[in-house]
Amino acid sequence: MMGLDIGEGKKYKGKIKVAELEDGSKVEIPYFVMRGVKKHPVLLLNAAIHGDELNGVEVIMRLFEELNPMQIKGTIIGVPVVNVLAFRSRDRFDAIEKRDLNRKFPGKKNGNITEKIAYHFFNEFVKNADFGIDLHAGMKGHLLLPHGRARILKDYKPNLEYYQALGTDIIFYHDGEKGMLNITAGKEGIPIVCFEIGEADRLDEYYINEGIKAVKNFMRYFGMLDGMPEMPARQILLQGYIEVRANAGGIFYSGIKVGDVVKEGDIIGYIRKINGERVYLKAEKDSTVMGVRTLSAVREGDPIAWMLSFENAEILEIKKKVKTRRNKILEKAEKFIK
Ligand SMILES: [Zn+2]
Repeated sequence: MMGLDIGEGKKYKGKIKVAELEDGSKVEIPYFVMRGVKKHPVLLLNAAIHGDELNGVEVIMRLFEELNPMQIKGTIIGVPVVNVLAFRSRDRFDAIEKRDLNRKFPGKKNGNITEKIAYHFFNEFVKNADFGIDLHAGMKGHLLLPHGRARILKDYKPNLEYYQALGTDIIFYHDGEKGMLNITAGKEGIPIVCFEIGEADRLDEYYINEGIKAVKNFMRYFGMLDGMPEMPARQILLQGYIEVRANAGGIFYSGIKVGDVVKEGDIIGYIRKINGERVYLKAEKDSTVMGVRTLSAVREGDPIAWMLSFENAEILEIKKKVKTRRNKILEKAEKFIK
C-alpha cells in the first residue's frame, strides 16, 4: 500500500485496486493513513466487512477528522469500508455473490471477488499493522451492546488484554469460524479485536460515541494517545450464549434493553398475536442482554434477543493503571457470578 512512509504529522488518502466489474468500472478500497511522531505501532481501523454495518464507518471517518497526527504516537491506517460491493448493495453481502467476507480471510489472489477483497485487504493493510480494531454491528434488526468478540479456534486463543483495552463492561468469548479476520490475523501474530456496536443500516450517535471512546481507550492503553484510558477496573468475560426465539407469531414488545441483567424466569417481553392474545417470553438463565430485536413483526422461531448467561463467567482485572469507571453490568450481576 502507498502512504505508509509519509512523514511525521502527515495525512494521506488513497485506494487500492481489487478487480473489475461487468461494465469495466473498478472495485477499489479507499483508505486513510495518519502518521504521528513515530512510525510504530501501526494501528489498523476497519469497518464494513459486512456492507450494512455503518456505525464503524462513521467512527473511523470522525476519528480522521478529529485527531491531529502530532497528538499520536505511531500510525493509523483507516479503512472505513472493506466490503465496498456489499456497501453498494446496502447489505451484509454483495448482492451478486452473497458470500460472507468474514469467512474468507486471508483470501485468494485468483479467487472470486469476495476472496479477492479478502486477499488485498489482508496483504496490503493487515500485514502492515501491528494490531487492529475490526468494527461491526448487529445484523439488520439486531441491536448489540458495545462489546468485543474474542474468538477461539482449536489452534488459536486470543490475548484478551487487547479486548480489555477497549474498556467495555463485558467481553464475549466464543467459538469462531475459520476465515474470520480476527482469527486469521491472530494466527499470523497480528492481534485484531472484533468490536460490535449497535445495529446494521442505521447510524446511532450513542453507539458511534461508544465506538470512538473504545478506539481512544485502546490507543491510550497502548501508548498511542496521551492520557489514561477510562474503563472499568473489572470486566466480565462471558461465554454462555443463548438465542431467545419467538414462541408465537405477531408483534413483539421488548421488556429489556441491551446491558440489562435478568434472572431466570424474569419476563423479558411479550408477543401480541393478531387475535389480541399476549404470549410472554421468559429468561432461561441468569444473564445479561447482549442484543435485542428492533423489528416488531415476528413469526414463530424468529430470534428476539441474544443473552449471555453468567455460567462460567470470569472476572478480568485490568493490568495497567487506568482511570476507572463503574461497570454497571457487573454491579447488578455480581450476585450471579460464582
Ligand atoms: Zn459484521
